[in-house]
Amino acid sequence: MIADAAPRGHAKAARWPHLRLRWGVAMLVAVGAPALVTLLAFTSVRTVVPALLYVVAIILATIVGGRIGGLVAVVASAFPFFYFFASRYDRNELNAEGATALVVFVVAALFGSEVLGRERAARERAERAVRQSESALDAATRLQGVADALSTAHTPQEVLDAVLTEGVRAAEARGGLIATVSDDGESLEVIASRGYDLKWIEPFRHFPVSGNFPLSEAVRTGEGVFIGSETERDERYPELVGRSQPGHGLVCVPLVGERGTIGGLVFSFPTDQEFSPERRALKIALGRQAALALERARLSAAERTLRDRLTFLGEATALLTSSLDLETTLERLTGLAVPLLADWCSISMLVEETGQIEQVVVAHQDPERKRWAEAMRERSRAIRIDDEFDLTAQVIRTSEPVFLREVPQELLDEAVRRDPSAAEALEHVSIRSAITVPLVAGDRTFGALTLVAESRELEDSEFDLAQELAARAAIAVENARLYREAERRAEAALALAYVGDGVVLLDREGRVRFWNSAIAAITGVREADAFGRRPAEVVPKWEELTRLAELADAATPERARPVTVPIQTASGDRWVAVTGVAFDEGVVYALRDVSDERALERARSDFVATASHELRTPLAAVYGAARTLRRTDIEIPAEQRDRFLEIIVSETERLTAIVSQILFAGQLEDGRVDVTTTATDLGPFAESVLDSARLRAPEEIELRLEQNGSPAVALADEDKLRQVLVNLLDNAIKYSPDGGDVTVELSGGVGRVLLTVRDGGLGIPPGEQERIFEKFYRLDPALTRGVGGSGLGLFISRELVSRMGGSLTVRSQPGEGAAFVVDLPAA
Ligand code: ADP
Repeated sequence: MIADAAPRGHAKAARWPHLRLRWGVAMLVAVGAPALVTLLAFTSVRTVVPALLYVVAIILATIVGGRIGGLVAVVASAFPFFYFFASRYDRNELNAEGATALVVFVVAALFGSEVLGRERAARERAERAVRQSESALDAATRLQGVADALSTAHTPQEVLDAVLTEGVRAAEARGGLIATVSDDGESLEVIASRGYDLKWIEPFRHFPVSGNFPLSEAVRTGEGVFIGSETERDERYPELVGRSQPGHGLVCVPLVGERGTIGGLVFSFPTDQEFSPERRALKIALGRQAALALERARLSAAERTLRDRLTFLGEATALLTSSLDLETTLERLTGLAVPLLADWCSISMLVEETGQIEQVVVAHQDPERKRWAEAMRERSRAIRIDDEFDLTAQVIRTSEPVFLREVPQELLDEAVRRDPSAAEALEHVSIRSAITVPLVAGDRTFGALTLVAESRELEDSEFDLAQELAARAAIAVENARLYREAERRAEAALALAYVGDGVVLLDREGRVRFWNSAIAAITGVREADAFGRRPAEVVPKWEELTRLAELADAATPERARPVTVPIQTASGDRWVAVTGVAFDEGVVYALRDVSDERALERARSDFVATASHELRTPLAAVYGAARTLRRTDIEIPAEQRDRFLEIIVSETERLTAIVSQILFAGQLEDGRVDVTTTATDLGPFAESVLDSARLRAPEEIELRLEQNGSPAVALADEDKLRQVLVNLLDNAIKYSPDGGDVTVELSGGVGRVLLTVRDGGLGIPPGEQERIFEKFYRLDPALTRGVGGSGLGLFISRELVSRMGGSLTVRSQPGEGAAFVVDLPAA
């Protein structure tokens, strides 16, 4: 296909004048030498002298002109010798002397030419042998030159350079090229050339192995193809007529390596050539050397690439796994890819909940242009996973990588059409070649890594490497994501561990997976005892507890409605509000201890019952008295009328007192009660309160004051303290239905003054001793023999005392009375 041209027959044309000259000289000697002898020996009387001289002339002519020259000289010598010397001008008689001389002449010519011919043939043979050994040496030297050049070539490119530079020189060629067989063995690709006009090479960059081209034939047959001239080339390969560089001699040899034919080598010559077997052998040897060297270089290049790749991936893995922070991991990933693999790169992630694809990181080797690279993918915020056009969406959807060796212009045009702002970005960043690989964890594709080269084509090996990198990156990203998730869960677990509500997580089998400290407190069962077991095994009545709780759906956990149920715990009976939410992996129960709220609730309803009872009794009395007074049909004696009026007044006072207590409790809670303390001597104070109490107290009650001598002066608000003491004395009297002593004891301590109201009445069960201070809390009427009250007295008393800087506590044994102690700061 590629060859040179030059007129044939140059060698013959050059030899012709040389031959003519040689023949001219030979004829001159063959004719001239006998003539000279005739002239020189003319005067000789003896015939033997000229005869000898003629023999010499004949031999001379034989030397110069060979056999023909010798025979011409024989003729040129025989006639003068015969005429002038042998017959002495008698032409008709050939005497014995003349005949002998003639025979001698002929023999001299023939013998001389024979001897000389042999000698010359021997010389020529010797010369040829020398030439041959010289050319063999020359060929060996040239091959050695190529071999030397090849031995220092390490990369495939260096091998190609060595073959084409040294090989062309060794072959005495004008140009050379190397083509390799494609992986599928179907085509040949020109990978390097020297000395050709590229316009002829370009159409033949790829051509089929099966084609009728000289190099295709050489590769197919494994034999060299030797073409002497352009005419021969055009005859043998008509496809090349007009399609290849005009040329002369052409050699195509296959490159046969250890693993078969890997390509072919072409040499073109500046002149027409005849290829001797030696030259052919030289070219074949060159091809063989080149093939081996190329194979070796490729192998070591492949090894080097593999080593580099392993090193790169090793470093990448180390770097990627060195952080569990998602952002850092992604930054590192792009840092690895740019600029080693690409000019810029981006990572997009799929937001599963919304089906949107978000670009999370972009890296560009030029920080200035990073902004534009970001802008280019900015629109991807609006890209959805089902977008048919977007490549990233396609890669994430199919989990198949995409390699656009040369990004088609139509694709970029379409991108601009869809988003005109991309046009501006594309003025600053180019997209020549692109690779998008999926980031896959397990069977889930959660994102994609895109690599872009701006001014070159990315290679197959880079596509492979990108996939390997993506595989490692996916693990790192997934690890970081899992870690973040674990962290989030750990934080959630921490929050749940310390939340005030009891939280229980049961797995699908109904076994405890999470048991926080609040549930431990509510149930009295430690986490260690509950974990991995069914709650019913550790909490009696668990089934009853949760049976009523209607499980809400995981999608709408807020719909869970609490069910309040009683539960027995180590610290007594408690009330808990239970909510349950079922989700894929089990059920979560939240238990809130609502004993207090429930108690309050009960106290309220108790109060309503108590208050309505307490209010109805005096109201009924007032109502009855008033109705009786209004009667006109009967005569009411004046004494009875006074009695009824008395009832109305006292019951109304009782009503007012209850209502005042309720109002006062409200004011206390709202902080509207002022307490101003002054030094108060409790002796006289208690005495006066006792005096008025005695007026109200039934006869069976004995009211006394006990003071241990020392004065008891406290810092107190006298009015409020009176309210407290009246209440305590009233209670002591009320809850001593069988009568008995009620004493007020005053005692001083270090900085404290104690005022104790002691009775010998019903007493208070230990479990209730704190609760009686709660608002509206009253003991069971069975325990108080139905004594009425609002349940506010002790609440108000404790509040007032504590506002004076003191405390109110109780000590009591049921059935043995109670002692309420007011502890106040001393004045
Ligand atoms: P009430 O108006 O019902 O007496 P209190 O707040 O004064 O309200 O008292 C609360 C409850 O404490 C009472 O209902 C009673 O059961 C109990 N209690 C108060 N004082 C005594 C006492 N001295 N002895 C026995 N129980 C008492």
